[in-house]
Amino acid sequence: MSPEYTTKPTVYDNVQHQFNKAADLMNLDPAVRKILAQTTNEIVVHFPVRMDNGDIEMFTGYRVQHNNALGPFKGGLRFHPAVNIHEVRALATWMTWKSAIVDIPFGGAKGGIQIDPAKYSPRELERITRRFTFALGNNIGPEYDIPAPDVNTNPQIMAWVLDTYLSTMSPQERNRCIHVVTGKPIESGGSLGRNKATGQGIVFLIEQWAKDHSFDLSSATYIVQGFGNVGGWAARLLHRYGARLVAVEDATGAVANQTGIDVAALEEYARAHRGIQGYPDAEPIDHHAFLSTHADIFIPAALENQITAATAPLLTVRLVAEGANGPTNPDGDRILQEKGIDLLPDVLCNAGGVMVSYFEWLQNKRSEFWELEEVDAKLRKRLIAAYDRVQEQAQKFATDWRTAAYIVAFSRLTKVYRDRGIFP
Ligand code: NAD
Repeated sequence: MSPEYTTKPTVYDNVQHQFNKAADLMNLDPAVRKILAQTTNEIVVHFPVRMDNGDIEMFTGYRVQHNNALGPFKGGLRFHPAVNIHEVRALATWMTWKSAIVDIPFGGAKGGIQIDPAKYSPRELERITRRFTFALGNNIGPEYDIPAPDVNTNPQIMAWVLDTYLSTMSPQERNRCIHVVTGKPIESGGSLGRNKATGQGIVFLIEQWAKDHSFDLSSATYIVQGFGNVGGWAARLLHRYGARLVAVEDATGAVANQTGIDVAALEEYARAHRGIQGYPDAEPIDHHAFLSTHADIFIPAALENQITAATAPLLTVRLVAEGANGPTNPDGDRILQEKGIDLLPDVLCNAGGVMVSYFEWLQNKRSEFWELEEVDAKLRKRLIAAYDRVQEQAQKFATDWRTAAYIVAFSRLTKVYRDRGIFP
């Protein structure tokens, strides 16, 4: 059976569950509820690419645009074998909430290709990326829908998206359109601070949570799942506060060391060996032992559905700071609450990425180039403001932080729909 047609709960069912909980609690306007419960556009493209050996292979790519009431559609591109319409729908919907919560003028979208990029050469990946971009055509655009990196995509891939998009325009138009994609290499119009932005944002928010709880980060311990862009940066930046990284898991395996893992050394090892498995200065552990590791903070920064009825009981942490999108399903949420574990929900916690994407987009539009200090200061200020808004709603509605974050998003979107009305 195709992964598109499944009777099992999908990650999009998790989104609907979270959506209904918050909408019921705040008594969301029924008209707005109907609109937000659905995506706006769902684009599926099948496209051929020539492989290095001369053969043609067909690929399937997606772009789901959830909502653009607040501004252009915005969201990453993921290259992963598990990409399917349910996942992309879910990820696009979370992007709408995220931009609304952190108060930036973007809507929500997401896209990707169902592919294991490790199986292709760099030249093949370039052709796949370019042909996907070409297939999307005018469904993306600098004032319409703006992709960015996500799982298994990076600034290089964004540079190929940019170059392909610009190549389809007239020469006079090209330089006006470099904000068609964010997360670009600096020399191609990227922003300082974008690469680390998601990890940086997570750490700013953890710092704020620590302040609120009079918790000393310099003696804290933490575990990280996923050691790519988000997990790697979060691990490195939290280490600078003196906190100790005691266990890490990526797609290749998990390692632990209670005396602390040297983050820079692990990064170097992971780069050289395409993963953390076999890192010599830590013990190899299994998935169960990783989740059971004693620590203060858990940063899931890999994929969805990691904290569930089966795994949440294993956690002994005080705080889950969600770097990944959708790492906790509704059963996981319930168990975290029962256990009294605090939560910085994905739609707030990993919003640093889209925030600095917004800064990159602004710099491109204005032909400006901001200093890193300026980017970081703006990021911190806006994320802490969002943290305060979520905290306020959590207190007002006596609810968990995920639901409170959704209420912040829905309130902003409701105001826009009330002001503008529905055409015609
Ligand atoms: P990445 O490709 O750079 O890294 C992904 C990491 O997850 C890798 O270390 C990989 O080995 C690991 N991983 C994959 N499958 C795993 C498994 N089954 N168990 C344990 N680890 C596994 O991707 P990324 O950009 O760091 O994205 C990670 C998460 O953060 C995703 O949920 C993504 O949507 C979210 N996110 C990313 C950004 C961004 O700016 N890149 C922004 C917001 C949210």
